Amino acid sequence: MHMEYADIVILGAGIGGYETFRTLARLLKKHRLPQRILVIDRNNYFTFTPMLHEAATGSIEPGHAAIALRELLYGTPHSFLKATVAHIDPPTKTIQTDQGTVRYGYAVLALGSGVNYFGLADAASKAENVRTLRGALRLRRKLMGLLEGCQTEITVTIVGGGFTGVEVAGQFSYLAAHDLKKLYPDKKILVRLIDPSGILSMAPPQVPAIIQRRLENAGVHFEIGSRVQGLENGRLILANGKTFTTDLTIWCAGVQNYADSFLSADFQEKGKIPVNEFLQHVRANELYAVGDIAAACDSTTKKPCPPLGEAAHRQGAYVATHLAAALRGKAARVKPFRFKSWGMMVPVGEGYGVVVAGPLVFTGFIAWFIRRTVYIFFMPGALRKIKIMFDWALHSFGFRYIIELEDQDADEGPGICPTP
Ligand SMILES: Cc1cc2nc3c(=O)[nH]c(=O)nc-3n(C[C@H](O)[C@H](O)[C@H](O)COP(=O)(O)OP(=O)(O)OC[C@H]3O[C@@H](n4cnc5c(N)ncnc54)[C@H](O)[C@@H]3O)c2cc1C
Repeated sequence: MHMEYADIVILGAGIGGYETFRTLARLLKKHRLPQRILVIDRNNYFTFTPMLHEAATGSIEPGHAAIALRELLYGTPHSFLKATVAHIDPPTKTIQTDQGTVRYGYAVLALGSGVNYFGLADAASKAENVRTLRGALRLRRKLMGLLEGCQTEITVTIVGGGFTGVEVAGQFSYLAAHDLKKLYPDKKILVRLIDPSGILSMAPPQVPAIIQRRLENAGVHFEIGSRVQGLENGRLILANGKTFTTDLTIWCAGVQNYADSFLSADFQEKGKIPVNEFLQHVRANELYAVGDIAAACDSTTKKPCPPLGEAAHRQGAYVATHLAAALRGKAARVKPFRFKSWGMMVPVGEGYGVVVAGPLVFTGFIAWFIRRTVYIFFMPGALRKIKIMFDWALHSFGFRYIIELEDQDADEGPGICPTP
């Protein structure tokens, strides 16, 4: 254990934290500022979460949704510490981690959010998720285990009809209709999506109906109107009394705000960081917050920012600009943070998507292609972009990544199939 000091510490190198780093490193260099950045993350890689459902279903190589942080910091004078953050104390400007204590001049909190199981312990231990690379890999391993096992009919249940649930349902329905027929002709996948109130509640009214119709035509069964109450022995129990068998349950139902696990009650509100119009903590101005963990809103309309990559990315760029200006004594010149979404993009399987831009709604291949192209630009690194484009091209002409990855901790497999 050791005590370290850093001028600027970025806690969490996901979409918001990495964008803060990228922009700030450029500004420090441009203005020849001497301050150094320390990036802390529990993983030694950056994860591009919006692509994890594609990694989980073999549409892209799992490693392509992540980039080594040391690779991203290479060539800069800044440093990286692989550590899990346990506690932040704004009055003393100290951070406790499992690798020791770090003192800071400024800090940017970008630790994201977790999965909300709404208190269902069984769901937390038995359902899969696509919130982390580890989760996506586990899901892929389970899927491969089922496909290589004896069962001919596999039921996949997706809990939650938000963006993630819809994207996952699209991938599985496409897999069932295309790759499965080629690679596992004796197998059938049944996809079911469960949500208490319908899909994509935050989208313009015509969008959920378009997407639901598309998914239904692709064979997805919808169970709308009741929430999941239990998950035991391969059965899902709904609050309305219905039960379903399930071989693979993917939990996409909610976001868990967890700033309360890092800060004392005076410095967080309902699991989020209260920030002012410059994204600084309201009671500790040297501490900024960006992304899912920040209770940020547009400074004029006061509309809260959604927990989405687009908001995290723009907040990261803004905080870097504000912080660099503060270091030069010019913070007063920076205007308060504004956020108006550029639009909404939802892929539904391969080759079909929906894009909403202002009053316009585009559907079909073009919308899917726009979404892919835009996302590739959010991914750091030119080489990575090329690798992913290569993956997609190969996948269009060939097959998914279906190598079965064994894990020593994996659950027992299906065993030996009975001889017919
Ligand atoms: C499957 C899925 C699909 C999505 N699709 C879209 C989409 O299409 N469009 C969109 O705009 N948004 C999408 N989102 C939402 C988007 O990914 C998040 O809003 C965004 O990642 C939030 O960025 P962030 O920087 O706050 O957190 P993250 O990107 O989650 O980064 C948090 C970082 O903190 C690190 N960390 C966490 N806890 C600790 C700790 N204790 N110690 C050290 N490090 C820690 C993590 O390792 C991670 O690197 C999707 C999310 C999911 C799960």
